[in-house]
Amino acid sequence: MADNKRNFSTRALWADHLSPVAGSDIAVPIHHSVTFEYHDMDEWFDVALKRKAGHIYSRNTNPTVRSLEVTMSSLEGSEDAVSFSTGMAAISNTLHTLLEPGDRVVTIKDTYGGTSKIFLEFLPRMKVDCCLCETLDFDTIEEEVRKGCKLLYLETPTNPLLKVMDIERLARVAHEAGALVLVDNTFATMINQLPLELGADLVLYSATKYLNGHSDAMGGILCGPEELVDRVYHYREINGATLHANSAYLILRGLKTLELRIQRHNENAQRIAEFLDDHHKVDKVYYPGLPHHTHHDIARRQMDGYGGMLSFSLHGDFQDVKKLVPNLTHAHAAASLGSVTTLIGPPAVTSHVELTAEERRALGIPESLIRYSAGVENLDDLIEDLKLGLASL
Ligand SMILES: *Cc1c(COP(=O)(O)O)cnc(C)c1O
Repeated sequence: MADNKRNFSTRALWADHLSPVAGSDIAVPIHHSVTFEYHDMDEWFDVALKRKAGHIYSRNTNPTVRSLEVTMSSLEGSEDAVSFSTGMAAISNTLHTLLEPGDRVVTIKDTYGGTSKIFLEFLPRMKVDCCLCETLDFDTIEEEVRKGCKLLYLETPTNPLLKVMDIERLARVAHEAGALVLVDNTFATMINQLPLELGADLVLYSATKYLNGHSDAMGGILCGPEELVDRVYHYREINGATLHANSAYLILRGLKTLELRIQRHNENAQRIAEFLDDHHKVDKVYYPGLPHHTHHDIARRQMDGYGGMLSFSLHGDFQDVKKLVPNLTHAHAAASLGSVTTLIGPPAVTSHVELTAEERRALGIPESLIRYSAGVENLDDLIEDLKLGLASL
């Protein structure tokens, strides 16, 4: 067991207490205050100049938000962490901090829809050269990295086809080439996959998904070495994509049950994938835990669980998707993923709505594909629901 896997549940419950105050709360208080008062001008000066710990103004730091960041770095096993208003803010702030005109970044075609827009639309405007490789063509990725780049940006498993990338192999080559390696770990979470232990330098999350886990708060987190996290923090404090204390509290609360939830998500998704795989109306099932998955071997090596996300295509077209989705009673037809309740949707209107139909086709996303975020409901109920839904087609 990797060191960082030890006592996860204990750290998830206790790491949020920064420094005890006498007679203090056992739940982290939500500090709504925008600003923090100082009676001693010298002390104020010391805090402002970072000579002393403390909070000045909530766009920069806030006690509740800082509790989340400290907890996250404990859970991820990183030196530090910084939070953001959304996952996309984490991604854009990090990329805009690390990259400048003339730089080159190597990434994959299957990043999250919003992320790939940054690579295709916004970074090129800043004269950053973005090289989007075929996700599973590791040889080409290595070749492109060796040509020179500042950053290798990975995401695994990917959305919505659950492609699995070999983090260890690609991180080794990137480091030989002097590049930083960043992994979007939103789908797996640190319960199932620890990119830092596989060689990545930075890990980021849409906390809106599993970390919060209840679809009631948005957020983003970046974990990594203090020096890099500090630089991204500075970009964020000035550019202003700060996480709200109330959202920080809800994400902290989510983290307390993350291990329990992920265990259940893993179990439910595995069994549902196996059920769908045997169903005659289902064409293909994409889930890293199935032995026929393209990179089941890599997943088995680098993941402790295969996650709660799967997708499947029907023997049919979008009309069948339109019929099946509203027929399910234990699945919200909605965007997003990683919630305690099952969420279902076609990528065309959820994760890849930012892309054109041609771009989706180019990514190999079939028209009859359905993405399924298995919740933590009773497994038999979920399978029964799918059984009835599929029978109606
Ligand atoms: C949702 C998601 C994002 C974006 O996060 P938001 O919180 O919606 O801004 C980024 N990456 C992945 C893998 C996601 O699923």
